[in-house]
Amino acid sequence: MFAPVDYSPAPINKVASYSMVFDATHRVLNVVTNGNKSVETVFISFKEALCNSSLTVLQYDDILDTVQYAAQKHRFQTRKNYEKTPYIIHPIGVALSILMEAQIELTEILQIALLHDTLEDTDATYEEIAAKFGYHVAGSVKELSDEVGEPGRKTQDQATRKRLEIEHAGKLSFDATVVKLADKLYNLRDLIDNPPATWSNERFIGYADFVEQILNHIVSHHEDKAHIKGFHGLLKLEQLVQEQISRVRDHYKTK
Ligand code: ZN
Repeated sequence: MFAPVDYSPAPINKVASYSMVFDATHRVLNVVTNGNKSVETVFISFKEALCNSSLTVLQYDDILDTVQYAAQKHRFQTRKNYEKTPYIIHPIGVALSILMEAQIELTEILQIALLHDTLEDTDATYEEIAAKFGYHVAGSVKELSDEVGEPGRKTQDQATRKRLEIEHAGKLSFDATVVKLADKLYNLRDLIDNPPATWSNERFIGYADFVEQILNHIVSHHEDKAHIKGFHGLLKLEQLVQEQISRVRDHYKTK
């Protein structure tokens, strides 16, 4: 005899095949962050946002592969907050913001977000990123790393590096601009939610001023980018950055 028919909804293919790559990525994250709960929470939100997006299974796999790569590269780094949260929380958070808040569902921009600090802060190389994720992704990550000057930039003083970053902001490609804004939005939010342990009020306000100058440079180059798919998402990020600048100023204003 036949077994009773199961009338419950069949699993969506997408979701079924999602789980294997997801499990592998989840395991890697667990190992490199020692099971950190804050990273876990952001990663689960990112996974859910991906599942609710119009991205395909292949795109989903590519994005999760990128999470694994970035997590391994940043494995020995932490954020500058009191808890010293594993660094990978930041690139995943930046990608989550692009997906959820800017509603930009483009694989390469999400990959650039996940990788945006690997060239500058880890042993990742342009060639390795290009071989794994393609030249467009590698080139955009390079754009976001070269902005503080040519090799030897680490020897430049902080004021020079900031000035170069502001000037460079207007010259970024569309994809790099989106990631730059989401990166600054994340950092501004962290200044209130998970502030660096050693900063003074003046330094917090100085960072908000610095981001405002970057924002102004980006806005002054809109005509180069207005025709691009995702421009609406860029405007949304600009608005959120501007609002967050005000919040940081209010929060740290000296009485
Ligand atoms: Zn960053």
